[in-house]
Amino acid sequence: MDMLGIYLSVPFCRSKCTFCNFASGVFPAEYHDRYIARMEEDLGVTRKRARQWGAVLPQAVDSIYLGGGTPSLLSPALFRRLFTSLRREFAVLPTAEITVECAPGQLEPAVLEALAECGVTRVSFGVQSFVDSEARAIGRLHTRAVALEDIRRVQAAGINDVSVDLIAGVPAQTVESWYESLGVLADSGVDHASIYMLEVDDESRLGRELLVNGGRYRAQEVPADDEVADLYTEAIAFLAGHGLAQYEISNFARSGSESRHNLKYWRRQPYLGFGLDAHSMVRAHAGAALRFGTTDDFDAYLEGPGWGEPRRLDREEEMEEAWFLGLRLNEGVSLGSLRKEFSASVVREFLSTIGELEGDGLIAFVDGDRVALTARGRLLSNDVFGRFLAEPAVA
Ligand code: SF4
Repeated sequence: MDMLGIYLSVPFCRSKCTFCNFASGVFPAEYHDRYIARMEEDLGVTRKRARQWGAVLPQAVDSIYLGGGTPSLLSPALFRRLFTSLRREFAVLPTAEITVECAPGQLEPAVLEALAECGVTRVSFGVQSFVDSEARAIGRLHTRAVALEDIRRVQAAGINDVSVDLIAGVPAQTVESWYESLGVLADSGVDHASIYMLEVDDESRLGRELLVNGGRYRAQEVPADDEVADLYTEAIAFLAGHGLAQYEISNFARSGSESRHNLKYWRRQPYLGFGLDAHSMVRAHAGAALRFGTTDDFDAYLEGPGWGEPRRLDREEEMEEAWFLGLRLNEGVSLGSLRKEFSASVVREFLSTIGELEGDGLIAFVDGDRVALTARGRLLSNDVFGRFLAEPAVA
């Protein structure tokens, strides 16, 4: 039976990283209280909204994820209040995976104590680079020593599941410095890692600088796309050699430490998102997927109604999602499951595309039933996903 996942967006940061295009910003602490109160209002009307929309919410919650932003900037009192509200509104299982994103160097002892007390089981650190000059170049405020000390503190507080994010392609990164970061990550003993290839968004400070050829954020020193792809590919082999197997395009874990919450997104299991720019997917009574979300405008969120009206996906959209979300996972997409959910004839319509992509070396059959991206397919994943979007309509 499906369980529910809950995502809470906490969009507050101490400073803005140069590459960041998320709906996050630097706000005075007075806003924190108002924002949490606003989220609590939304938590309180969830069941009513779900009934109005004919949505079926699973009874039990088995994952909660506080992302952002830098949720660890909230005060201990706000964490306690938020978790009390969550447990009042939802049946949070004692075994639930509860993740909080933290920035190294921005986790006060009293906050860490509150996280442990609130039942947090997992911390995800946005390290991005363990090379101090690289972290500084992208606007991170920590050093390697601080990041490692924070990982140790979290584990000493009894929160054993720790994830570290790294970015391949930060300004001035070299193959040697990339291996240095990967080596520190592996030696730190964390059980999960996320590796992202830098994408320079025009709306980030780095992107704006690239457009005007400036020098402040070292945009001219961002490695070329093919070099970034090489760094990513080398990370996959390196991490596998250190017990962290790839299970999704950007995610790596020791066996059993995969992110339960994030798996819901790729497996199309139900989740609710609260706060700024948060997305939700739940099922209607007839089984159709309902997607809805909130604004990415901070003031509008504080004043507004929370979720916008839901959109009911048609069968064709659901099938497309099954492909482009499922193919992100190394386990791939089961044709047998698709036949059950849609129909054998619908799956047959995709066989020629699968054959072509297999011929191009972009996907492969894992066993007789599952189709998965190859290593090359992961690098060209958007092209592969696009090929599945062009298929005929699902009846
Ligand atoms: S801490 Fe995260 S959300 Fe905040 S600016 Fe940096 S990357 Fe963006």
